[in-house]
Amino acid sequence: MSEVLISEVGPRDGLQSIARTMATQDKCAWIKSLADAGLREIEVASFVPAKLLPQMADAAEVVTFAKELPDLLVTALVPNVKGAAAAFASGVHKITIPFSASEAHSLSNVRKTHLQMLEEVAAILALRQDRYPHVQIETSLSTAFGCSIAGPVPEDTVLRLANELVAIGVEEIGLADTTGYANPAQVRRLFDRMRSEIGDRCTSAHLHNTRGLGLANALAAYQAGIRIFDSSMGGIGGCPFAPGASGNVVTEDLVFMFESMGIATGVDLEKLMLARDVFARGLPDEPTYGMLPAAGLPKGFTYAS
Ligand code: ZN
Repeated sequence: MSEVLISEVGPRDGLQSIARTMATQDKCAWIKSLADAGLREIEVASFVPAKLLPQMADAAEVVTFAKELPDLLVTALVPNVKGAAAAFASGVHKITIPFSASEAHSLSNVRKTHLQMLEEVAAILALRQDRYPHVQIETSLSTAFGCSIAGPVPEDTVLRLANELVAIGVEEIGLADTTGYANPAQVRRLFDRMRSEIGDRCTSAHLHNTRGLGLANALAAYQAGIRIFDSSMGGIGGCPFAPGASGNVVTEDLVFMFESMGIATGVDLEKLMLARDVFARGLPDEPTYGMLPAAGLPKGFTYAS
């Protein structure tokens, strides 16, 4: 049993923020190498119009491939009902709906107010209820720790939105530091407040390393009881709609932190290094990041058991 679940978001969050498009067969090879490294949940695509994000035009094809990989929960990002319908039809196991805690970010990102987003989420829940009851739905409250457009985002707004989402039937709610604004004290405080309001329905942390606090924030979220962490191999990705945001938490560094603390992830770091080579073959010369990949494993390193 893994003690934490690392949800790899590189093939979605990473690739959609890179201007070049990775070929479908290269994406599939990379996703397979990530699954081979022991990652049990991978966000493989985003169901958005191809004219907005041509990098994700092959989303359904990639889901079809990923579903054949053993013991892998295949997830996709969907911004609206139309995307959800396409994602459900592709056979995805889980969808994540981004919901900006900052209304200014929501208007800029998906041109919707909070009220309109709540209606959109309700429509997606209704569609699932009708035709796809087995699909998991998570709502990720993005810009929960600050917004590059609006600046600080009140914690009470985040908590109000979480309660409203629970009230319409969302089972899983995560918090995302889309713009890399969070600090560990803030992460601990907001996750503590979330868990005292909505309990185990607050499930995951999506953290960025934009200002170097990604791992410290992940540890703070762990200490608040969070056990699902989004990260991306090589730290690729950001948010194309949040100016200045770059760099998801690096999966390699996050796995190393947890394993060296005795917290099992189920991920094999040597095999994860091989996945970096597969990525590099698909997108030559694309920069990747990570302290562990640069330094290597320390002598005598052992995994948590
Ligand atoms: Zn991200």
